[in-house]
Amino acid sequence: LSKEQGRDGWRPFSNELTDKARTRLELVNGLRHAMERDELTLVFQPIVSTQNGRIKGAEALLRWTPESGPISPAVFIPIAEQNGLVNPLGTWVFTRACETLARLMARYPEEHFYLSVNLSTKQLDQPHLAEEFAAILQATGADPKRLVLELTETSLFSDVEKNLRELNRLADLGMRVAVDDFGTGYSSLLQLLRLPVSLIKIDREFVDGLDKRHDSRLIINAVIKMARALGKTVIAEGVENENQLFELKALQCEAVQGFLCARPMSEAALMDNIDNQCQLDHEQHAQVYYVI
Ligand code: C2E
Ligand code: MG
Ligand code: MG
Ligand code: MG
Repeated sequence: LSKEQGRDGWRPFSNELTDKARTRLELVNGLRHAMERDELTLVFQPIVSTQNGRIKGAEALLRWTPESGPISPAVFIPIAEQNGLVNPLGTWVFTRACETLARLMARYPEEHFYLSVNLSTKQLDQPHLAEEFAAILQATGADPKRLVLELTETSLFSDVEKNLRELNRLADLGMRVAVDDFGTGYSSLLQLLRLPVSLIKIDREFVDGLDKRHDSRLIINAVIKMARALGKTVIAEGVENENQLFELKALQCEAVQGFLCARPMSEAALMDNIDNQCQLDHEQHAQVYYVI
């Protein structure tokens, strides 16, 4: 705390740091007890086909609501990763998602919905992750073919060698792998080919750019062409308006996810929306269907 730094030779700087550290510590401690205190829930955001507007599946997103109010996963997931808490959290998420999937399968035996679950690459370091997931699949009766594991491009490609082995074991169980936030990191095509990746989720930044910049359209077009050549499915994230949807359809993007179609919702609300869709199918006037 040098004299030059403030009028009285002292700045609140160090206090700010302590505050930050304290908040962090509080978050870590809070997270440790989040499960037993019943503060965690999963919400589900529909993934919608651009061809017929039907719900193809949903992404499970984790919500933490301690007494002090909700905290974003963008804040607490990195903290969980740095404090060895992401493995128990990840197990909780996967188990709950499998339970929901089993209920979806029982309620809609004719439909082929899938659930997408986010995974931290830290979870891939866990010994016996595949065995653990296999046991959860078995216990819940969830069909692995209806599960997608999403890993962000940045983390996935930071150490392909390390991630390859465990991802292959998960893929061998029948689950598909998606590269999340595609375009924000830099994966080499060669590495992309080595990993058992079935889906590519174009980051919302590019979708957002569709309204603002010419190059976003070019990039999305290139990603879709490449993905198609490699036999991978493309999903656009963060679709918020009709113009973006129109452009993505024109570029032949298979599926979209975003506030335009639906916000993340409870399992019950997801089922209500699927019930509606089934009802519309029955009445045969479902051309383009948007969940609200
Ligand atoms: P993500 O996997 O890329 O998930 C998409 C995020 O975009 C979600 O934020 C979703 O609510 C938000 N989103 C969806 N549509 C729109 C839209 O039209 N506009 C805007 N502005 N945002 C939209 P959320 O739920 O806050 O999650 C943030 C990130 O936290 C996720 O990004 C994912 O990386 C991570 N995350 C969430 N749940 C889990 C989890 O269970 N495990 C792990 N490891 N990470 C998780
Ligand atoms: Mg995701
Ligand atoms: Mg994403
Ligand atoms: Mg993201």
